[in-house]
Amino acid sequence: MARAFNFCAGPAILPLEVLQQAQAELVDYQGTGMSILEMSHRGKQYDAVHQEATANIRELMNLSDDYAVLFLQGGASLQFAMVPMNFLPPGATADYVNAGSWGSAAIKQARLLGNVTVAADCEKEIPTRVPDAAELKLTPGAAYLHLTSNETISGAQWKAFPKPAAPLVCDMSSDILSRPVDYRQFALIYAGAQKNLGPSGVTLVIVRKDLAEKAAKTIPAMLRYQTHIEAEGMYNTPPCYSVYILALTTRWLKKFGPANMFQRNRDKAQLLYHTIDASGFYRGTAKKECRSDMNVTFRLPTAELEERFCAEATKAGLSQLKGHRSVGGVRASIYNAFPVEGVQALVAFMKEFEKRNG
Ligand SMILES: *Cc1c(COP(=O)(O)O)cnc(C)c1O
Repeated sequence: MARAFNFCAGPAILPLEVLQQAQAELVDYQGTGMSILEMSHRGKQYDAVHQEATANIRELMNLSDDYAVLFLQGGASLQFAMVPMNFLPPGATADYVNAGSWGSAAIKQARLLGNVTVAADCEKEIPTRVPDAAELKLTPGAAYLHLTSNETISGAQWKAFPKPAAPLVCDMSSDILSRPVDYRQFALIYAGAQKNLGPSGVTLVIVRKDLAEKAAKTIPAMLRYQTHIEAEGMYNTPPCYSVYILALTTRWLKKFGPANMFQRNRDKAQLLYHTIDASGFYRGTAKKECRSDMNVTFRLPTAELEERFCAEATKAGLSQLKGHRSVGGVRASIYNAFPVEGVQALVAFMKEFEKRNG
């Protein structure tokens, strides 16, 4: 079997043992003679999967009963609209940080729905970065403050979160469960699963129940968090297979040990950043203090060299290293499931490529 070292930013690499278990159970799930793909979402087999996914998330994130765990559809992109629909009433103002493309996309949607103040804007700065907490211009009495914990495209990541008076809302699509975080400092967290939690098709939402309860009753049912909380995730058909893979992936993470995973993530990122810093050829895109441990972004001296770098890397079994089309450059996405050996192979390739082209 030839598995590529897959550096894709999303949908991204999954643990091999998760894929193998899904394969083994695909046609006949636990002796039922049916695939989980074919079963009622209200049957006892799927119910057990849904319960396990929820329990794994609760345990891994250390959540109290004050929070609901939801598996929704529409991607993180739908959360850009659902958050203000539920939490930004007429007359109120929400603060948003714009530190990159995803923060900017969230702001665009919120502006369609209510008053938005941009608390800090460093989207266009190079080197890329997230702002200091002290830089934020916060609105007194704001409905909430919205952050993107890790800007997947630019490779800038918050290392410590601000502590505003307003409830904190965070898009954690690309770094959830990758490092130690006190998740209870947030009122709402959302994450498309396809980067660090499982496949596309499911979006994890963690929301404080007391806030969800207060959202206007005029919001269409599917777009109101409270609908899904009251129906315990079964208001309509959930994305069953995606939740199943998420359950397997979080089971794998528990078995690996979150502390071991966090250390491994740091080590992988450090290997790449050391290689970049030790060279006069590669140049990191993000400011050192906020370099992402998940999406390592860097440039080569010319766009032509970047193109050759990615093409030759692909031939060497290092796939999907091309930076996002909006910014160019090189991006190595090294989420939880990405193996250390793949990072070591990339480092060796980088050194060898520099020798030939530097
Ligand atoms: C990928 C990504 C999104 C978009 O997710 P979809 O599930 O495609 O809607 C939003 N925010 C961040 C930080 C992302 O990395």
